[in-house]
Amino acid sequence: MEIEAQYLSKINFAAVDELGQLSLGQSLQLKILEIYYYGAVCYARAKLPSSFPSLESLTIFSWSEMVSTPMAPSKFSYLKHLRVVFLARSLSPTYDHCSLISFFDASPSLETFFLQVVPMYAKHPSIFADPSDLRKMPEHRHDKLKNVKIVGFSSSKSLVELTCHILESTTSLEYLTLDTTDGHSPPRCSSVHNMGKCFPIDRDVILEAHKALLAIRTYIQGIVPSKLKFTVGKPCSQCHAV
Ligand SMILES: [Zn+2]
Repeated sequence: MEIEAQYLSKINFAAVDELGQLSLGQSLQLKILEIYYYGAVCYARAKLPSSFPSLESLTIFSWSEMVSTPMAPSKFSYLKHLRVVFLARSLSPTYDHCSLISFFDASPSLETFFLQVVPMYAKHPSIFADPSDLRKMPEHRHDKLKNVKIVGFSSSKSLVELTCHILESTTSLEYLTLDTTDGHSPPRCSSVHNMGKCFPIDRDVILEAHKALLAIRTYIQGIVPSKLKFTVGKPCSQCHAV
């Protein structure tokens, strides 16, 4: 598929095959892009800056991400909003969440970052299995970033490191939300559903959510600046008790 429409301002692109046969040409005015693809995160970082130099909003749904996101010199000079969704079982256990910093480095105007993972399928090493020193990356600064939300937050070590890095390298941050659920669990079930009960969740998922909450208390809460609006999403205390 070849797209040579220079004056498009928005594209939604979904595919279930390899990206190798897609040519996006140069859409100099494209501001909004959504892609659904295998390896979409890696592809987006490596290929999109040169094709879409004016991009302001990028949403990436990845069906499969086998390698960590590469560092690259190319820039998303105008990108303000980045949303990355790892669908279902898409993430390799060796995927390094910290490699997403590559997008922050490439995007000097970035204001919002939304990340969604499915903790149910995440097989990443927990920080409690390897509590050795957390990586520090002080040379990376992201001083436009205002709003960060991570849904499906788990105790994955590289996810905890990514969150600590954002807090330590961003003076502009105003909102941080870490949701240990899939993003759909209401804080008080009985006031939301007529049934008066939340939908059931697998016990393993509830246990991982509690590990994630412990990771937040242990590694993150202490470095959250007092001026920051910090929100933590938890499983329902009534229906999802362990
Ligand atoms: Zn409930």
